[in-house]
Amino acid sequence: MADRKVVIIGSGPAGLTAALYSARANLSPLLIEGLEAGGQLMLTTMVENWPGFRDGIMGPDLMTEMRAQAERFGTEVIQSTVASVDLQHRPFTISLADGRQITTESLIVATGASARWLDIDSDRRLSGHGVSTCATCDGYFFRGKPIAVVGGGDSAMEEAIYLTKFASKVIVIHRRESLRASKIMQDKAFANPKIEFVWDSEIVEVKDVSKGEVSGVVVRNLKTDALSEIALDGVFIAIGHTPNTSLFRGQLELDETGYIITRDGTRTTVPGVFAAGDVQDHVYRQAITAAGSGCMAAIDAERYLEHLPVADERTDRAASHA
Ligand code: NAP
Repeated sequence: MADRKVVIIGSGPAGLTAALYSARANLSPLLIEGLEAGGQLMLTTMVENWPGFRDGIMGPDLMTEMRAQAERFGTEVIQSTVASVDLQHRPFTISLADGRQITTESLIVATGASARWLDIDSDRRLSGHGVSTCATCDGYFFRGKPIAVVGGGDSAMEEAIYLTKFASKVIVIHRRESLRASKIMQDKAFANPKIEFVWDSEIVEVKDVSKGEVSGVVVRNLKTDALSEIALDGVFIAIGHTPNTSLFRGQLELDETGYIITRDGTRTTVPGVFAAGDVQDHVYRQAITAAGSGCMAAIDAERYLEHLPVADERTDRAASHA
């Protein structure tokens, strides 16, 4: 007999919505929070596109409310990370980093996606020393200083605009000559007098001549190959995300970029394992779509459990096949 009917890994909008729905279906879900509790919205400021809040809501406040709502209906939340999963045998086994093991009849994977880094060594080496992937976490440290944002998508524009509250100047470094960001974000960025653009360029090195703190970047123009140096105090990298699926490699089918493949709703290639949110969606990637798929995963898991033979029947069947 399994310890749990439903275990959810991940505590962003997908995981917490799956928890809310499965708790309200009397499945007493266990939610394993993971390292980045609350997910990407914890790193956001005002969320203006979550329906129901005409003036917007701060990302961390939204996640606090979602978690409290899931707990109110009986979700148990544990603050731990998952070290490994065994999806080959039933019930599934989840081994936590602290050594505990949990068995479950069904699993909802909502591990999300994490910020990408550049393909150079110096960005990671100087992470926390002037290089960041989170403007809302670290923007405050750059009051009155010039900084760069790398990327041309909505995240990069959002971060650049936000960072103008602190920085003396924000230089957006983008590898093409047009932005990927939505028109409204582009318009806002172009209209901001503190934002400058360096087009067709990539950072080849983050410099730290001032002993361990960012002092500038070396930039290559991809059309002319010319190198130039820009003096600045901080670099914010906003070039997209990588799905957190290393735990499931070899056990669930993933696409070529590592996203979990789901079919027929949120079903993965292992019956009883469902995936929701950014870990299986590289198209929409919105908090509201993640929450929607979390709801779907809970309903899919509930229906799967309804059709599972009860434990005694399964033991009897196994015995009769022995
Ligand atoms: P994204 O749309 O995939 O954009 C990533 C950007 O980084 C692109 O401009 C890309 O350049 C660039 N890039 C990727 N790899 C790079 C590398 N190795 N070196 C340099 N540049 C690199 O990612 P995102 O901006 O994080 O947005 C993800 C999703 O969330 C999107 O659907 C977006 O609309 C949504 N989002 C919405 C909001 C909002 O509505 N407020 C805010 C944030 C995000 P190329 O353009 O050349 O590919």
